[in-house]
Amino acid sequence: MVVMIANNFVGSPVDQVVFDGNSVFIKRDDLLDPAFSGNKARKLYYLLENDDSHAKVISYGSPQSNFLYSLSELAKLKQWKCDFYVDHVPRFLRDNPAGNYLRARNNGANIISIHKEKDTLSIEEYINKFVLPEEECALFIPEGGSSPLAEPGIKKLAEEITQWAEIEKMDDVKVMLPSGTGTTALYLQKHLDFEVLTCACVGANEYLEDQFQALSKGAFQHPTILSMQKKHHFGKVYTEFYDIWLSLKKQTGIEFELLYDPLGWLTLRGYMQVQKNNVEQSNPPPILYIHQGGVLGNDTMLARYNRMKRMGNK
Ligand SMILES: *Cc1c(COP(=O)(O)O)cnc(C)c1O
Repeated sequence: MVVMIANNFVGSPVDQVVFDGNSVFIKRDDLLDPAFSGNKARKLYYLLENDDSHAKVISYGSPQSNFLYSLSELAKLKQWKCDFYVDHVPRFLRDNPAGNYLRARNNGANIISIHKEKDTLSIEEYINKFVLPEEECALFIPEGGSSPLAEPGIKKLAEEITQWAEIEKMDDVKVMLPSGTGTTALYLQKHLDFEVLTCACVGANEYLEDQFQALSKGAFQHPTILSMQKKHHFGKVYTEFYDIWLSLKKQTGIEFELLYDPLGWLTLRGYMQVQKNNVEQSNPPPILYIHQGGVLGNDTMLARYNRMKRMGNK
């Protein structure tokens, strides 16, 4: 049974772990429900609870994305059709369906490649021009669920954190989570009195700042963006990503996700190092890292890491 749709939904637990000698609290949003978890479940929470007026949902993005999979779960629960537009499906995935792509397909999601038709248009432009005019009754959700529809579910996450800190008698906490579109970090900051720390996984810091601005319209405070010296490209495989993912698993027993979490943890490790060396701050506030789920996507990422290791491409 899906925990998220139960009326007595109580939220996710918090674990305390030690990583590289640092004590860190982990908000286990990955444990919300096996099928419907992480920040995508938070973003879709409002629709799950409130929307029964649609028969079809339309979105777009990567055929391997966590969002595609979560949307397909929502559509299955709601008995909605789900049309998900992608540029193209990579050949290795088409030949060996796995991870989010396979699960979304099994849930009945209709994954539509428009590489040939869209010409010079972006996927969103193509959908606006050719798809939505024919689908006036469908619900359209932007890539990654980056929409005001996401706010109520993320507000709920903020309330759980506030409650937890109260019970633990913490008057300050630093909340860390890696960003894609920045939707989760932004709405979390809006509804939390604590500072939210994040890092830009998808584009440059300027891209993330633009995303924040588009959703906030400058009406509330944005999260703090932390950066690393080395730039990483989204979706690429890096030895240091795999290494920190594996050492997190060994030291904490928790499996994190492989696209966003490695950069999140590398950045956080740097931040904690600076805090430790800061003599003026003898007692830095505790850190709460948000586990945003997505581990089902690790199937296809691990296959890529294995290929990289076989090729000795270090
Ligand atoms: C989607 C996702 C993110 C990025 O969330 P945004 O709200 O787009 O910033 C981060 N981590 C995981 C595991 C995700 O699935």
